[in-house]
Amino acid sequence: MRLSRYFLPVIKETPSEAKIVSHRLMLRAGMIKQSSAGIYSWLPLGFKLLRKLENIVHEEQQRAGHIPMLMPTLQSADLWRESGRYDGYGEEMLRMQDRHGRDLLFSPTAEEMFTDVFRANVSSYKDLPLTLYQIQWKFRDEIRPRFGVMRGREFLMKDGYNFDLTKEDALHAYNRHLVSYLRTYERMGLQAIPMRADSGPIGGDYTHEFLVLAETGESEVFYDSRVTDIKLGDRDINFDDVAQCQGVMEEFTSLYARTDETHVADEFSKVPEANQRTARGIEVGQIFYFGTTYSEPLGATVQGPDGAKTPVHMGSHGIGVSRLLGAIIEASHDDKGIIWPEGVTPFHCGIVNLKTGDSEADAACESLYKEITALGLEPLYDDRDERAGAKFGTMDLIGLPWRITVGPRGLKNGVVELTSRRTGESEEMTPAQAVTKIAKIYAPHVPVKGHGDVEPMSGRSFHTWM
Ligand code: ATP
Ligand code: MG
Repeated sequence: MRLSRYFLPVIKETPSEAKIVSHRLMLRAGMIKQSSAGIYSWLPLGFKLLRKLENIVHEEQQRAGHIPMLMPTLQSADLWRESGRYDGYGEEMLRMQDRHGRDLLFSPTAEEMFTDVFRANVSSYKDLPLTLYQIQWKFRDEIRPRFGVMRGREFLMKDGYNFDLTKEDALHAYNRHLVSYLRTYERMGLQAIPMRADSGPIGGDYTHEFLVLAETGESEVFYDSRVTDIKLGDRDINFDDVAQCQGVMEEFTSLYARTDETHVADEFSKVPEANQRTARGIEVGQIFYFGTTYSEPLGATVQGPDGAKTPVHMGSHGIGVSRLLGAIIEASHDDKGIIWPEGVTPFHCGIVNLKTGDSEADAACESLYKEITALGLEPLYDDRDERAGAKFGTMDLIGLPWRITVGPRGLKNGVVELTSRRTGESEEMTPAQAVTKIAKIYAPHVPVKGHGDVEPMSGRSFHTWM
């Protein structure tokens, strides 16, 4: 993309309405524009990032064997009356009527809808296990929408639902989700700690929330500092392997880590004192096993191997996709702006032309742009006729992890400069060396062209949306 042809409405002033850094930076970097309280327009840069996160979530879900689909955002109240949640859900549910006076609602979650699809189409245990999911906009009429996309009213969520014959199978689904969520967050450059949580109105005994530590987080958390040493890394996971998934889940959840809702001071005091930590965290996901809570009232049953009809065991699983963008920024920024992890960056590198109009500088930038694009990567070329300071300022603000700076003086010696946004360190090298280095940095992230099935365990993107 050439910046002269892009739409990137960056803002110089610090917006006064934004209380936390991620909100300020998202507004300043021209990613979002508030439309009304807790409702945002996603401008091109914000939209591109949202799509990147969505893609990672899709890939990791499908890698774990889960099947994508899409539910409507507007749902009939009748289904919610059947489950008994229509009246109980409270004021967060946005209710409306159509012209015939039928009650509708904007989906805040979708247990009922998925259970309804299931009961209409599945009747035998032979079709199990089954996990369906969607990435779809949700609406919750939050009493205090704040912190930008962190607590919006309209927000993008991945929500998934597993249907299993037995509790044992459903607990494997629970563990499988825990592992796949950990992979998802790690690919986004985040450490999200699974913490024992409260199941709230969804019900059930098994639930974990995933929290990213950040001073601006809304939840108070208590944990054993050793949990932050555990990483999934690039170990091979077989999502069908019950013992392996359970092993990983135990590894990540056996140390003390709880939100304030489930915190027990007595138990926390057993953690070695030097390891006790109290901090704040951002909830970026939650998984539940709730058994037959929805399948029983909604009649989601299958015929078991013995011929008898039994309600299926279910769980639901959510990732806050739009909130994650805020969480990544909270975890990765400095006083100049955002610093995107390589796994999610909207453009792979910036190219800054120090002297637009200089024929040699222009030509060198053009060929860098072509070569990097030919690798299947997306550079953002600042070809505007602007001062160098303004160009650097924009690049730093929008947070591309790598910048190639091209100017007439360097070109006289045959070199350009490659700068890391994270460390600020620069290195002079030939343009060819810069291209090679960029290719190497992104080797694990190069998207594979074309649509199709996810490539198991490749760590690569399976399609290029944009
Ligand atoms: P919270 O406690 O923050 O209100 P929740 O527990 O009600 O969230 P879930 O029903 O578990 O939310 O939804 C799954 C995920 O969706 C959450 O982990 C969170 O990341 C995201 N999410 C929930 N509410 C919002 C919101 N108002 N704005 C943005 N993301 C949200
Ligand atoms: Mg939650």
